[in-house]
Amino acid sequence: MFATTVAGSLPKPSWLADPEKLWAPWRLSGAELEAGKRDATLLAIKLQEDAGIDIVSDGEQARQHFVHGFLERVDGIDFAHKVEMGIRDNRYKAMVPTVTSELRLKGRVHDMEAKVARAHTNRKLKFTLPGPMTIVDTIADRHYGDRTKMAFAFADLLNTEARALERDGVDVIQFDEPAFNVYMSEVGTWGIEALHRASTGLKCTTAVHICYGYGIKANVDWKQSLGREWRQYEEIFPALAASRIHQVSLECRNSKVPMELMTLLKGKDVLVGVIDVATDTVETPEDVAATIEAVMKFVPKERILPCTNCGMAPMRREIATAKLEALGLGAELARRRFG
Ligand code: ZN
Repeated sequence: MFATTVAGSLPKPSWLADPEKLWAPWRLSGAELEAGKRDATLLAIKLQEDAGIDIVSDGEQARQHFVHGFLERVDGIDFAHKVEMGIRDNRYKAMVPTVTSELRLKGRVHDMEAKVARAHTNRKLKFTLPGPMTIVDTIADRHYGDRTKMAFAFADLLNTEARALERDGVDVIQFDEPAFNVYMSEVGTWGIEALHRASTGLKCTTAVHICYGYGIKANVDWKQSLGREWRQYEEIFPALAASRIHQVSLECRNSKVPMELMTLLKGKDVLVGVIDVATDTVETPEDVAATIEAVMKFVPKERILPCTNCGMAPMRREIATAKLEALGLGAELARRRFG
């Protein structure tokens, strides 16, 4: 009960990439970079195991960014001439590559880190991939001319990689769809269909992560504008409850999401964010247990998986480690109290 997991990313060691940055530049190159990614993946697994995390991830140590790490292995994308684009409904500007021809995988995307992680842990292993809607919101298009068509093309590529990850021994494949919280009306019309395409044929557990973003300034400012209650989930959870995806990862700790919205996810495992990634204040195990107790009013306890609100990539490493420890200890406390 209360098996713990993480949304996905962890901070990288400073010998691998510039610390406390999104899209952090690598500090190594060539064969050294490949070896560094491998070593950092091992470290990420070890840190999670020591913190008592039950379903561990590779910490996304081998990719520069959760979306572009996948795109770098796709043919049909021009990375040489990045363009500035407003993303997440223009919440912030990013330099993005452009789709210029039909999309094709160059080969495997995440085999190295999946195999390294699998070889070095006996715990359940979770692997994250960007969701199709979030991908098309993070890339410019000069070929498809239609967001849905392009999203379905990416979904097919994601499916190929997801099936291969399953063969590598991954237990949970999670699609990260922060864009679901921005384009709510499109979730029901094509967002979930794209997720189904991406997860077709998988026998392992599938999950979708929908959050209010990393703890960067643009997101913190956006949250300020969302009012007293954040009700975005209300529009999309009924469609997710009816979907074939098994688990939903959501933001809870320090958020203005009304907890009763979780009742809309009947029949799903809920990865409850009990750790805030937008503050350096480290939760206590008591805080974590209290959040779990509050959520138990709305989600059956056997369906609660304590998790982080979002990825920890841009955080200070020692803070992230302390938060992982609080997550592990808090879930243990909750097991003793409510188990
Ligand atoms: Zn997130």
